[in-house]
Amino acid sequence: MSVHKNFIAGEWIGSSYQVANINPSDTNDIVGEYAQASRGQVNQAVDAAYTASAGWARSGIQQRCECLDAIGTEILARKQELGTLLSREEGKTLVEGIGEATRAGQIFKFFAGEALRNVGELLPSVRPGLGVEISREAVGPIAIITPWNFPIAIPAWKIAPALAFGNTVVFKPAELTPGSAWALTDIIARSGIPEGVFNLVMGPGAEIGAPMLNDRRIRAVSFTGSTRTGRIVAGACSARNARYQLEMGGKNPLVVLNDCGLDNAVNCAVNGAFFSTGQRCTASSRLIVEESIHDAFVAALVQKMEGLVIGDALAEGTDIGPVADQTQLNKNLKYVQIGKEEGAELLTGGEVVEREKPGFYQKPALFIDTDNSMRINKEEIFGPVASVIKVSDLDEAMHNANDTQFGLSAGICTSSLRSAARFKQESQAGMVMVNAPTAGVDYHVPFGGTKGSSFGPREQGGYARDFYTTVKTAYTQT
Ligand code: NAD
Repeated sequence: MSVHKNFIAGEWIGSSYQVANINPSDTNDIVGEYAQASRGQVNQAVDAAYTASAGWARSGIQQRCECLDAIGTEILARKQELGTLLSREEGKTLVEGIGEATRAGQIFKFFAGEALRNVGELLPSVRPGLGVEISREAVGPIAIITPWNFPIAIPAWKIAPALAFGNTVVFKPAELTPGSAWALTDIIARSGIPEGVFNLVMGPGAEIGAPMLNDRRIRAVSFTGSTRTGRIVAGACSARNARYQLEMGGKNPLVVLNDCGLDNAVNCAVNGAFFSTGQRCTASSRLIVEESIHDAFVAALVQKMEGLVIGDALAEGTDIGPVADQTQLNKNLKYVQIGKEEGAELLTGGEVVEREKPGFYQKPALFIDTDNSMRINKEEIFGPVASVIKVSDLDEAMHNANDTQFGLSAGICTSSLRSAARFKQESQAGMVMVNAPTAGVDYHVPFGGTKGSSFGPREQGGYARDFYTTVKTAYTQT
């Protein structure tokens, strides 16, 4: 099996150590072998990005637009193949994998246009004879560090704006999903970008991610991952005044009021809590349900959950693919046990299920009789495990929804305009959904949260410019 190499200064570079990328639907299936960058190679990648940065910043918006457009076009043309690779290495269903690959292509197309729209401002000065120009410039070399759960979309929504606004990139993907990162790099490498502008280094975060955080040539770090790693990124970057942006965990509430349409509320809960095997930062892990509809909602939800097909991510008809790996599965099982010990009632699921091929399959779990003081409602599990919290009215629902260290996404199912308006206003989350799942967002609008979920400017859409550019104010005496 050929080894997939790192991409540094325009060259594919091997290393003395490679790891196998394992399919979580079938652990006998090796997706590929991926070279692990050494610290020396990381240094070379940073050096390449640093050396290329002045030229790329001056390259002009037409060239940047064309490169990004070419990348987007190829991703969209190969979405089936890229989606299949993604599902094979990560475990989300094929429909979800192809959807994510499509999203990545759309993001590159969007930022191809944004490269042309980097507008500034022209103002009169308060001093006669002077004019003031405000412009946006590239920040410099940027380290992009990403998690495994959206292995092509998250890199796309960081890399595309970084390149669009004239920054160079060193990209370090998650250990579990190098395949999508490598395929994306292969496409970027053939898009016409100059050598050194984009670099890929694969390997463990503590070993090769950490040195980039402390490297003075890296001017900014865009990170998505766990809250624990986010704190490390924040500490290192703030110590040397480097710009950083963090997208981290969630414990997202879905409020279900008694005037919801029951079918839609159940669909929102199943989609939000269990699709993508619950491995989404925007997953609805806390279902906050008004007392008078609680029993009907729970009964309908359990019935729907029992009908979910758990199986090979690539098989037709699969609703829920495997958990990403043994570590994540162990964590999910530990939390199911914690929930029971805390006194919650496990109504369905939570256990490992066997399939024809060896994989990390788990039946989606639903707890009832839970409250916000329990660990299962306070800590991010990141698996197919959800809890129901019964409340007496919207006041109590609102309190519970906001009573969390996180603030990424929050949803409400109701037919009352008044309740929806209040929820949108009082929710402390960065993204609020009415009669829609907490997960599932558009790519042309801002994405991000509050409190422990996010730090720094928003990602995606036009707002991405705030992180990937720096503002210059120029005065001219006329
Ligand atoms: P993780 O924090 O373990 O790893 C994320 C990335 O950081 C990986 O590339 C990893 O190698 C790297 N890393 C680890 N230690 C590092 C260090 N010391 N220095 C530099 N880099 C280091 O997260 P994960 O398990 O890959 O992803 C799951 C987490 O991601 C969940 O908490 C989830 O909520 C979060 N997530 C958040 C969003 C969002 O937008 N808010 C989106 C997706 C996932």
